[in-house]
Amino acid sequence: MNELNSFSEFKRKLYIRILPILIVACLIGVFYIEKDDHLNRIVIPILIIVFGFSWLFMVKKRAFGLMEIINLIIITVIYLLKSFEIIYHDMVQNYQFTTGNSTYWTPLAFVLMFVTLKNNKGFIYALIIWLFTVSIGFSAWGDIPYQSKESLIQYYLSILVYIIFLYFARYVIASYTESEVLKKIAFQDPLTGIANRRQVYSWLEEGLENNLTISIIFIDLDHFKRINDDYGHVIGDKILKQFSSLIQDELHLGDRFGRWGGEEFIIVSYDRDEESSVLFAERLKHIIEAYSFTGVKNITASFGVATSNDQDTAELLIDHADKALYQSKENGRNRVSLYAG
Ligand code: GH3
Ligand code: MG
Ligand code: MG
Repeated sequence: MNELNSFSEFKRKLYIRILPILIVACLIGVFYIEKDDHLNRIVIPILIIVFGFSWLFMVKKRAFGLMEIINLIIITVIYLLKSFEIIYHDMVQNYQFTTGNSTYWTPLAFVLMFVTLKNNKGFIYALIIWLFTVSIGFSAWGDIPYQSKESLIQYYLSILVYIIFLYFARYVIASYTESEVLKKIAFQDPLTGIANRRQVYSWLEEGLENNLTISIIFIDLDHFKRINDDYGHVIGDKILKQFSSLIQDELHLGDRFGRWGGEEFIIVSYDRDEESSVLFAERLKHIIEAYSFTGVKNITASFGVATSNDQDTAELLIDHADKALYQSKENGRNRVSLYAG
């Protein structure tokens, strides 16, 4: 679920940063409203209120979808009113030659349309709004002063370029987000959120390819089947999660941690030799032993440690650690064994 919501979360963060700046822009605008500027006397206070509330709701993670739609509607309405004002008030009545300050914000309004509406809806919506604005201009074409016409055409064309650009940018962003999500799914264990076996394998292969000395520590929870039988699968799952974060807290910068499968975990270490790996495993053994997991007493784990030689492959290294782990189980569990060769 988190991956699927990542775009919303991305948008929420974006709004939280942008809205205060928009509010400041509006507040500055308040000081410069001219007496006869009836539109801005209404529009700016509305914007301040809407932006302010939206910001509060978004910070509190409430009604995000609704806030987005309200913002889109308000901004669209204001944008269209402004378009009328620019043509009929500014240009036709007052002979202004440029489109004015408010049009600096036009690109943002179009970005908002693309961000809020999914798939092709944003594109279609933006195109309709654009066509509408253009038609406002052309409906008054004969009355617009000659010098204003160029400014207006440039303005319309620049928006069209923004729309086309956003259309393609959206594809790039969408495919990027998608590939990030897929990567996450492919390399992450869904229960614990840590790396899965595929990811661990790629760490090993990458390290060995670069001739690094790698130590691995296999960790297998003792009698976990019994825990499931006695306390149920839900508690079992909870313990696996707690176990994962317990180990994660102990890792160093050069350590990688993953779930090998079931109740088996693995630490891949780039900067520990045999001796320090064994010491580390011993320390983890004590930490697990001493920790009180939810609803269950006395969980222990068995460890198998192996360090790579020059010629080792990932499979060989794993096989060695597995043999060491087997040794620990054979010798009575809750202990650390080093692969002896
Ligand atoms: P040993 O000390 O020899 O390792 O005994 P064990 O019971 O831990 O080993 P075994 O391999 O026989 O059983 C592993 C158990 O782990 C079986 C399975 O029910 C449990 N298990 C594996 N994956 C999960 C999981 O995702 N959630 C839960 N709750 N249990 C799991
Ligand atoms: Mg086990
Ligand atoms: Mg096992």
